[in-house]
Amino acid sequence: MDAAKNLPVAVIGAGPVGLAAAAHLLERGLEPLIFEAGTTAGAAIEHWRHIRLFSPWRFNTDPAAVRLLEAAGWEAPRPTALPYGGELIDNYLAPLAALPQIQSRLQTGARVTAVTRQGMDKTHIRNRDTTPFTVRVEHADGETRDHTVAAVIDASGTWSTRNPLGTSGLRAIGEEAAQDRISAPLPDVTGRDRAAFAGRRVLVVGAGHSAANTLINLADLAREEPDTRILWAVRGDSAAKVYGGGDLDGLPARGQLGGRVRRLVEAGKIELHTGFGISSIKSLDSSVTVGAVDGRTIEADVVVPCTGFRPDLDILRELRLNLDPAVEAPTELGPLIDPEFHSCGTVPPHGAKLLAHPDKDFYIVGMKSYGRAPTFLLATGYEQVRSVAAALAGDQESADTVHLELPETGVCSTDAGTSCDVPAPASRAADTESGCCAAPEPVLVGFPTGLAHGRSGTNN
Ligand SMILES: Cc1cc2nc3c(=O)[nH]c(=O)nc-3n(C[C@H](O)[C@H](O)[C@H](O)COP(=O)(O)OP(=O)(O)OC[C@H]3O[C@@H](n4cnc5c(N)ncnc54)[C@H](O)[C@@H]3O)c2cc1C
Repeated sequence: MDAAKNLPVAVIGAGPVGLAAAAHLLERGLEPLIFEAGTTAGAAIEHWRHIRLFSPWRFNTDPAAVRLLEAAGWEAPRPTALPYGGELIDNYLAPLAALPQIQSRLQTGARVTAVTRQGMDKTHIRNRDTTPFTVRVEHADGETRDHTVAAVIDASGTWSTRNPLGTSGLRAIGEEAAQDRISAPLPDVTGRDRAAFAGRRVLVVGAGHSAANTLINLADLAREEPDTRILWAVRGDSAAKVYGGGDLDGLPARGQLGGRVRRLVEAGKIELHTGFGISSIKSLDSSVTVGAVDGRTIEADVVVPCTGFRPDLDILRELRLNLDPAVEAPTELGPLIDPEFHSCGTVPPHGAKLLAHPDKDFYIVGMKSYGRAPTFLLATGYEQVRSVAAALAGDQESADTVHLELPETGVCSTDAGTSCDVPAPASRAADTESGCCAAPEPVLVGFPTGLAHGRSGTNN
């Protein structure tokens, strides 16, 4: 970061990974300047505060953030407990954001709309590496201001850009016009948003962790409001991906979730439609007709889009990025997390080197670094930002020595996985024809689901 040593480092987003980045920068003697679009830290998680995390507390806090908090008298939650999203905010993110060291460097209501090199567009190369960045920010006071910084860490997540319902990556025909019949991706159906779901025909679309949570919560709602009908559409030929590894899941809470959904389908409480690739949505007076590519239709009053997320790359348009053409993650990371071949968090720990882009001193970290892959875990993100802060501070040795502290039992010692549940070095994953792991390693790194091969193994 020779460009402008005295300038701050912009951190985009005050989610768990953005705040962890700030803590690591402070430990390195660097000056973070955190821009958060929402009104508080953890604004994206606010939308799913009613959802329980599947990883226990010990994986959900960052070591540098914990050091800052403990110095201020904070007491860590029980490491084995599984927090709700709301608890992650109330017991960790909010106290962290309130620390004077963080609060004084955190601007809320500050939405980053663009990042560029000061005084030059993407096509200019001369002195590029030594030129500071300009970060354009829309502030809560209505003003738009340009901030000059030495480096940028984009930890803005993917929550605000959900994938469309259409099966081809495009919005289904009529999707925009049907917006008022389409809910947020993770509505609180038994709490805050209950009125919109009770007694309605609810169509849940998608085959991931969010779909599983919503289906289970809807089943709880239907017990109290028996007129509620739960419909579930998945693109694949089966829902095996959601049912997951069951008892073989490295994170038991995640395995249990899949098992509960399976039982609800088998009991007829959830009406499952497989092979249902959505092509159109027709708005009626108080409902919609959702059409599949093969001509089938489903009538619903409200649609819940659990279709995953994609990164907002528009704000990075003036930067030189190196992204995997499929996953939109940094090029070397892409093959390791491609959902076509990987079903879980089994990616080797990685840091600044793997996350680097042609524009020096710019990094995408956290959920957004995984692009369209849904398997990001906080523990991985915390190691990313430790390494990135070291690289920005010029400590290349520490930046390159990536490690992930895994517990002695469970997570890294299961024999549940088969080939694809074993991490492959980037070069090997990229070189093999399938992009999958050619030669299994004896030890797993990550959180196996018990499912191998991602989508290519489940047709889902
Ligand atoms: C329902 C659910 C459950 C999950 N459970 C787990 C789990 O059990 N274990 C686990 O390890 N991971 C879990 N994850 C995955 C992941 O760890 C979380 O999504 C986590 O919140 C990602 O952290 P982040 O800091 O990268 O992004 P986010 O938490 O999304 O934070 C990004 C922040 O950036 C802000 N922002 C966005 N755009 C801008 C902008 N242009 N300018 C300024 N600010 C901006 C947002 O408001 C937000 O506050 C879960 C995810 C979901 C959705």
